[in-house]
Amino acid sequence: MQEVKKFKTESKRLLDLMINSIYSNKEIFLRELISNASDAIDKYHYLALTKKDIPVLENYEINLAIDKEKRALIIEDNGIGMTHDEIVNHLGTIAKSGSLEFLDKIKDEKANDIDIIGQFGVGFYSAFMVSSKVEVETKSPYSEVAYRFSSAGSESYKIEEIDKPNNGTKVIVYLRDNTEEENYDKYLEQYHISSLVKKYSDYVRYPITMVMERSETKKDADGKPIEGQYETINEKETLNSMIPIWKKAKADVTEEQLNNFYKQKFNDYNDPLVSLSVNTEGLLTYNALLFIPKKAPYDLYSENYERGLQLYTKGVFIMDKCKELIPDYLRFVKGLVDSSDLSLNISREMLQQDRQLQKIASTIEKKILNELARLQKDEYDKYLEFFDTFGINLKYSIYQSYGQNKDKVQDLLVYKTINEEKPISLKTYVEKMKDKQDAIYFASAKDKDAVLAMPQMDLVKKYGYDVLILTDNVDEFVMTMLQNYMDKPFKSINQGELNILDDNQKEEVEKLKDLKKSFIDKLKDILKDDVSDVVISSRLTDSPVCLVSTDGISFEMEKVLASMPDGNQNNIKAQRVLELNPNHDLFKTLEKVYTSNPAELEDYAKLLYSQALLMEGFPLKDPVEFSNKMCELMIKSSK
Ligand code: ADP
Repeated sequence: MQEVKKFKTESKRLLDLMINSIYSNKEIFLRELISNASDAIDKYHYLALTKKDIPVLENYEINLAIDKEKRALIIEDNGIGMTHDEIVNHLGTIAKSGSLEFLDKIKDEKANDIDIIGQFGVGFYSAFMVSSKVEVETKSPYSEVAYRFSSAGSESYKIEEIDKPNNGTKVIVYLRDNTEEENYDKYLEQYHISSLVKKYSDYVRYPITMVMERSETKKDADGKPIEGQYETINEKETLNSMIPIWKKAKADVTEEQLNNFYKQKFNDYNDPLVSLSVNTEGLLTYNALLFIPKKAPYDLYSENYERGLQLYTKGVFIMDKCKELIPDYLRFVKGLVDSSDLSLNISREMLQQDRQLQKIASTIEKKILNELARLQKDEYDKYLEFFDTFGINLKYSIYQSYGQNKDKVQDLLVYKTINEEKPISLKTYVEKMKDKQDAIYFASAKDKDAVLAMPQMDLVKKYGYDVLILTDNVDEFVMTMLQNYMDKPFKSINQGELNILDDNQKEEVEKLKDLKKSFIDKLKDILKDDVSDVVISSRLTDSPVCLVSTDGISFEMEKVLASMPDGNQNNIKAQRVLELNPNHDLFKTLEKVYTSNPAELEDYAKLLYSQALLMEGFPLKDPVEFSNKMCELMIKSSK
């Protein structure tokens, strides 16, 4: 039986990308194929241990062979193999949902193979970077029949039945002819292949073998070497050390090895920003390797993103993304855990209840938080790089847990401020607070200049208080959850009372309030539909007016809520308060208008309110009316 099938459209695109690849690191195809072989043996072994009808094998092996005549490199495993349907579904289609989405995204743009290889590791298809044709001979324990898949990377591939008694897969990579830019012959050299195995696949837990040709001094009948005479010896050698990298002592693993391992295992083309190896013994015995990537995966916040660590027990692979091992707010952490305490038969459903696993998860969470704290202490610039990419997750964790995660996470938060060059932690902020300052001030704005330009900053600037600059949507919500830090309350510079005046100054403001009561009441009456209050300001020194909100919902929150998918249907709004600067000339002018020509005060008051709205970045209810009033006033004043 023989059939010819067409590749799925997306697969064809990925294939084309591989065939025309300008990716310089083509040699990674070997580690991808070896890694597939190793996964296949993992799967077989796991089945054999858990299912009666499948025998456990004595020797698992990935064998490499070179056929110089056919210009072919052969990678053979005795793993799980593939049934007919699996060939169609796994080799004829892209299995990885991620790469599909990615391909969709770049549909109209120029396809960039570096990005796609980097983001997903293209697995099996990477063989087409070096080959003109690929054959896969495979037999699954679930199928009576064995098959050969073959493809030259064109529209279609062929599947035919073959004779193959043993379970497993043999991938035959027919190498391309050399070109000026690229030497493909090197993949026919034993020495080169063996060094690639060392470089990329040393930790693979199964022997990667190859019959190596060696030249040795000839020996005579008594076993004595005969000088000057050589013979060729062919001997099967194991090329890899087979010790999983996570089981090796820290001192025996170079940074490069760790980085290579990370990149291949987790399909990243950047070295990790942080790697952490954990070996614990005692009540809990497990090894873990944890990584924080340099860049966030493009789908980190999409619904399809699956967080989790790879789970092994006693060196046997159990599952790929065990989400119970990592809390959602650390979803960006990659890695694996190998425990000797878990049952091999553990199912996804049982994981949630497994006490042992919960304990491992909680120590892992602690290790990661400790490592972040260490980084913050010892390598601040690196920490800032981390925070820039992933800090938002820490913020969300405080918000989403309604503050429960506060103690764990708050010291890891850093903020840009108006006085400091680099972002600082809350602790540093508090340590640097001025003598009389008793609150942690913050302002929501896009950058430092925008904060400095805010009228509400007048007095804060004068006193030299530092102000946290909040730029993320979630920031103010986090402040609401935190409430205070080291007993210092958080205070928005444009919300509620600032508590910035001393007792004498406060008294003066109070006096002034009494004195100007009827004038202020009049303004309140005019603006009663727009603001909940009009008050004499204790935060303005240079600016004539500003708009603030009462404690509770802030302007920033109102804007964030309005930008939500439901468009703030509950119409949650900040309570607006108009503050006037009693020392400003404008205040005096208004008072004059109030006494001499009260009818005109209405126009002035409305104009003033509109200005305050504009400064806060709110739209005007009626811009035309605002403009007309403004014109009238200008004309009047020039008469
Ligand atoms: P990935 O390995 O990341 O899933 P690949 O494109 O490398 O992606 O492989 C696709 C699928 O083909 C694998 O998930 C596996 O099911 C199957 N496959 C590939 N190589 C082998 C093999 N040597 N033995 C059994 N199945 C394999």
